[in-house]
Formats: sequence, C-alpha cells, structure tokens
Amino acid sequence: MTTTEVVQLRNQRECYAGIRLYAPDRTPSAIDLSDNTNRWGMPPAAERAMRAVGSDVCARYPEIYASSLKEALADYTGVSPDMIVTGCGSDDVLDSAIRAFTEPGDRITIPDPSFAMIPCFAQMNAATPVMVPLAEDYAVDVDGMLAEDPSVVYVCSPNNPTGTAAARASVEALVERTRGVVIVDEAYAEFADADLLDLARSRSNVLVVRTMSKAFGLAGLRVGYAVGAPALVGEVEKSRGPYKVSAMAASAAIAALGDDLPWVRQHVAIAVANRERLSLELKHRRIPVLPSSANFVLAPLANADAIALRMRKSGVAVRPFTNLRGISADIRASDGSALRISVGPWAEIEGTLAALDQAMA
Ligand code: PMP
Repeated sequence: MTTTEVVQLRNQRECYAGIRLYAPDRTPSAIDLSDNTNRWGMPPAAERAMRAVGSDVCARYPEIYASSLKEALADYTGVSPDMIVTGCGSDDVLDSAIRAFTEPGDRITIPDPSFAMIPCFAQMNAATPVMVPLAEDYAVDVDGMLAEDPSVVYVCSPNNPTGTAAARASVEALVERTRGVVIVDEAYAEFADADLLDLARSRSNVLVVRTMSKAFGLAGLRVGYAVGAPALVGEVEKSRGPYKVSAMAASAAIAALGDDLPWVRQHVAIAVANRERLSLELKHRRIPVLPSSANFVLAPLANADAIALRMRKSGVAVRPFTNLRGISADIRASDGSALRISVGPWAEIEGTLAALDQAMA
C-alpha cells in the first residue's frame, strides 16, 4: 500500500487541506544571497566545539530541555535561564508557541507582508490566521491587529521580507491592549539599532523569539530560542517537547555565544555597512529600496520573478516575491513584485549587482 492510499483511508485533518510544503528554489548557485543566512560562514569557536563532540556524546540523548544552552542564552540576553525556551530553529519555537497559546479555531493576527511561515504554523495548529495589511510606511496597524480579539498577535521586527523595524510605541500598544500573547519575532535583531527584548523581561504576555541562524551563522544546526516570563516559556516548553536541540548544535551554539561573540559582532558590523552600500548601489540604478534594519534589503521591482530567473541562469540566487501587499503603492510600478537580496561579503554583492544589471538589460 502506498503512502497516498494510507492518507486516503484515514481522516485527513481538515485544517491541513490548504497547507503547502515550503518549497523555495534551492538549486545550488555560485553566489547565493537568497536566504538571509550568514555568508561569512560559521564562527570559528563554534566550528571547533562542533568537531570536538565525541561519538560517546552522539550515542546518548542530549540534555532534555537544553539547560546548558539556556544558561549561555540567558547570559547573552541578560535574563535568568528560566526565562528561556529553546527549539529546533526558531521555526520550531514559533510553531510550539502558536500551539501553546491557541485553541483550535482561535485567531492569530499577522501583518501582511511578513514571515510566510506564520500563516502555515497557524493552520498546522488549527488556528485561524488573520492577515492585517501593514499601514503606511510599513508600520504595524495596531487597531487592525487587535480588531478581532486574537489569542496571538505576531509581529516581526525587523520584518521579513520588508526589512523594516516596527515602532516601539506600536508594539507597546499591542502589548497593552491585547488579551492575548504578543509574539515578537526578532530573527534579525542583531542587525538593527534597537530591540524589544526588554518587553519580554517586563511584561507577562510578550514572547521575543530569536534565532542562531542569521547573525550567529548556525542555520544548518537549527537552534532557535525565545525569551519571556517563566510561566509563558514554560507553556512553550510543554508544547515543543523534549530533546529538540541536538548535542552537537548545543555545543556549537554555546561556543558561538561565548568565545565567538567578538567575531559575530564584527561580521554584523560589516553586514550593516554592506547593507547601506548595497542600498546606495540600487538607488544609483534607480531601483527603489525599503529602509532595512536587517541583513537583507527589499527592492520593489516589476517582473522580479523573471529577473530572478535570469540571474539564476548566470549563477546568482536572490529571492523574488510577487503579490506583496502594499509594496507597489508608493514606489514605481511593481504590483507587489520585489527582489529580496541578502547581504554578504562585498565580492558576492558585486557579483549579484552585475547579474542584476545583465538581467535587467
Ligand atoms: N523568523 C523569521 C522572520 C525568519 O525570516 C526566519 C528564517 N527565514 C525564521 C524565523 C526561522 O529561522 P530558523 O528556523 O532558522 O531559526
């Protein structure tokens, strides 16, 4: 009997009907600025720590709830370890949090556009995603986000894919006025001027979710975490279950948060400088670009799909978007069509700009 037949014989969860598997184009490219990972690679102490993990450690289960990693993350974020929950990437933490704080049918409000996986995580957990368009200047529409009394309010700052940071006052208003939990996704916080971590420290209904996949260069090891009140992160921990961070990933992450911090900060500074330089280069080409606080920029551009395809043929990967809500409104004709370009070493950006010029010629 095939897998398909098994699925047909049993009940398929109704809420799964509309879920599509995540499938961005991942064909290997000579230059790949498509996924906002750290293009300088894995930090050196993390690599040494990973290589030092012995077969004995790999043959046993890791720490159940990654307590050593929690301690390192607590030091890094300035909270106590009981305010940290970890997971297999921040995807896992976000999914677990949504499951923890919604009953089936509950609403979760999500800015549009924002991180594309959130409506999927909502559906996977039988919650109802309610998309709320970003207001002018890509600001969070506070009234819109609260209008339907959601159980969970999701905000991403800096926001993927726009790169824009949410105003602190807007997030504070959400926290103040909602009866639900506010999830603040700060996957790109290290690249921004300011963060909202203090809200997780001081408020009982705020969960700030972070990742080791971007500034810390460990995307392949899958380490994410959240900071919040002990009672809040305790619920997420119940939802995510035991053994979610492998021993090797935890060792590398602990080293990255310790000996590698200067390396991480140095490369964040280069990424921020290159982001500004890339934005200028795009503007010189009369390509509009949104103000970014992340390690990528979004450039509204007509026919982004076709342009990205041509760039791929010359060995350069960037991420095209179509139908992004509100993206063409104030900038020249692009119908929600845009290219998201990650920031990497300047040589990779130069190669990307050359491919872009060629694709647009
Ligand atoms: N949040 C945002 C906003 C992201 O862009 C991403 C990755 N694209 C994630 C969360 C998930 O990252 P990870 O699972 O690698 O921690």
